[in-house]
Amino acid sequence: MQTFTIKSPLDMHLHLRDSEMLRLVAPYSAEAFAGGVIMPNITPPITTLEALHAYRKRVLEACGNHLFLPYMTMFLKPYEESFFEEAAAHIIAMKLYPAGVTTNSEEGAKNIDSLEPQLKAMEALNIPLSVHAETHSPNLFEREQNFLPILEHIAKKFPKLKVMFEHISSKEGLKLVADYENIYATITLHHMTLTVDDLMGERLNPHLFCKPVVKTESDRDAVLEAALNASPKVMFGSDSAPHPRESKESASAPAGIFSAPAILPKLVEIFERHGKLDNLQNFVSDNAKSIYGINPPEKFVALEKSEYRVPSLCKNRDTEVVPLFAAESCLWGISSVE
Ligand SMILES: [Zn+2]
Repeated sequence: MQTFTIKSPLDMHLHLRDSEMLRLVAPYSAEAFAGGVIMPNITPPITTLEALHAYRKRVLEACGNHLFLPYMTMFLKPYEESFFEEAAAHIIAMKLYPAGVTTNSEEGAKNIDSLEPQLKAMEALNIPLSVHAETHSPNLFEREQNFLPILEHIAKKFPKLKVMFEHISSKEGLKLVADYENIYATITLHHMTLTVDDLMGERLNPHLFCKPVVKTESDRDAVLEAALNASPKVMFGSDSAPHPRESKESASAPAGIFSAPAILPKLVEIFERHGKLDNLQNFVSDNAKSIYGINPPEKFVALEKSEYRVPSLCKNRDTEVVPLFAAESCLWGISSVE
């Protein structure tokens, strides 16, 4: 049996939610990954260290016996500059949500320039800035592109600040990453596999609706190529973001794709198909280690080439979520975790 082992896989952009949903989804990530960057947009968003510690504890409880290190983040707002010194030891990054663009981001930055004192403090303390890079442009497909000048402005003004361009979805975005030494990017499984045609070419599939929205074939191909080549500026971040099935299947479906159950089997399948398996370790772990300067727990996740079927539905008592690639087969499945 052909096998492939990944050392300490990392998911550098992960939404675990809270309460019942947290308990349902956390084990999928905690089994397959050695660690992940946990996004702070729960309700209310994480804006104090007390809330951060309490959430971290709930996350660890939900991970059960799996070896998984949650790298915590906080919601960036106009904190006192001295607060960053206190927070630095407890967070891997501060997350910037332009106000209102994604789930629970209403408190996000209304005006980037007003956050300059905070960005300056972060630069001095080497706290990375994680960015949901979309504007409120009325054209959904141009929101990421329209945000690029803002990222460029931040990158120039704070050349030592590490800027994480999250869930990059466009070829223009990738060009910006290549142009600025201090801009890095996370890449999701869905942006490297889906186009807007999958979302609504034939019938509307709300489970494939996310922000930034999946785009054209040429954007998808550019994102896929960046992942496959695993340049040191990019790393895997799933943006796995569950919503209850009933809200996804309502007339007002929220944005977010729950990809956690499919990730490693699909990544191995895709990298193998393109003859790039040698780059997968960098993409899904080593690049993130050097970009963030972290040393995750040692964990060996082995996959073997035998059919794995993604669950059609993930559920516990009261919560049901439909995962990405629900009920589809993968050529590879996780066979052991040590
Ligand atoms: Zn996200």
